[in-house]
Amino acid sequence: MSLLLKNARIINPNSFSANNFLTKDIFIKSNVIDMISDKISDELIDNIKKNDNKNIRVFDCEGKLVLPGFVNMHTHCAMSLFRGYGDDMPLHDWLSKKIWPIEAKLTEEDCYWNARFAFIEMIKSGITCFFDMYWHLDGVLRAAVDSGIRGYCSQVMIDMFDENKSKESINTVLKNYKYFSNNIEGYCDRIKMILGPHAIYTVSEKTLLWCKKFSEEQNIFINIHLSETEKEVDDCIKKYGVRPVEYLEKIKFLKNNIVFAHSIWLDEKEIDILKKYNICVVHNPISNMKLSVGGKFPLKKYVDKNIFTTLGTDSVSSNNSLDMFETMKFASLLSKHNYVNPIITNSREIYSMATKNAYDFLGIKGGEIKEGFIADFILLDLNHYSLIPCNDIFSNLVYSAKPECIDSVICNGQIIMKNRKIDGEDIIRDKVKGISLRLLNK
Ligand SMILES: [Zn+2]
Repeated sequence: MSLLLKNARIINPNSFSANNFLTKDIFIKSNVIDMISDKISDELIDNIKKNDNKNIRVFDCEGKLVLPGFVNMHTHCAMSLFRGYGDDMPLHDWLSKKIWPIEAKLTEEDCYWNARFAFIEMIKSGITCFFDMYWHLDGVLRAAVDSGIRGYCSQVMIDMFDENKSKESINTVLKNYKYFSNNIEGYCDRIKMILGPHAIYTVSEKTLLWCKKFSEEQNIFINIHLSETEKEVDDCIKKYGVRPVEYLEKIKFLKNNIVFAHSIWLDEKEIDILKKYNICVVHNPISNMKLSVGGKFPLKKYVDKNIFTTLGTDSVSSNNSLDMFETMKFASLLSKHNYVNPIITNSREIYSMATKNAYDFLGIKGGEIKEGFIADFILLDLNHYSLIPCNDIFSNLVYSAKPECIDSVICNGQIIMKNRKIDGEDIIRDKVKGISLRLLNK
């Protein structure tokens, strides 16, 4: 099935005001933008139908602005069960008394429904791609396939420096990889399996180096938390005599294609080390503030050194939503506040962090509305109050837009939300209510 968007508005590269938006027809062949034209004639459509022997679904986009979808570069989807569960607690008490005891009871089926519920919230806020780490990877992979979203999923690896747990953790990943290769890879090009060693304070050098080797052999990404709190840095210095990035370089873990979530407490020297590798950092401004991690994300230094800088929501348990509009706004406000400088970053740069920067890092030709680019879009309702007036669309997107201004979402050339409706929404919501009743409200 191909898709034709008629009368869509797209941004004029020379002016960001709604008065200068361009009106175009956009033809999507399979999952790629095949043609953008002032008007695609009925005759041309008939020819395409004849030549490709395919049906074309026509979507009237009058009054809608077409934009690339957002990429949520750090999240834990299947934690959607934990919204508002144990807020306003010290980090360690929250984890040990609230989260870990319930996580131990979660099944693959629970994680499937929790992840599907997270995808509803993500899709409704315009997210077309996510980068994840959690337990029961098979459940999350299944959920991502069924939801229509693009995803990079990892099984979290934690061995607490115990030889047996390291082996167990590696075996689980190998089992997952077999499941992925047999059941998902090959028929679903949207979903990729990646590796998720949790952090340097929970994963041994042996497991980290196994991850590096496996990631190189299979050409897959690594997803790891880095220097979220000052304590992590102090503990690393006490244990290894060097700071976390220096430690990772010393053990020869660093390589291309690693995503470092948080990356807050880094000094100048560590940022220079990261610069030597093709890596990506993820700013999670809301989670960082809520968990009081202190410090400040060195956004300006990353941007100045051309390090891929992206945005993430983190999980619902530490956010408490999966909303990229809020994330963009907080990222911008927090950097202005931290640097005491209103021009430290602008809305266009922040918007790129939520879109193009991430697609570029992931090696996907996406994040822009251009011929030959992947068809991962959102359609914005230009009549929504949060977008009026529209003097500068990037300002509106970062500072005033709400998820409710998104009318429809297309991922990999398929419509996954139309007029704010997602297939199966009610069933998924009821399933999660049931899981919550069983595990949290007994
Ligand atoms: Zn995380």
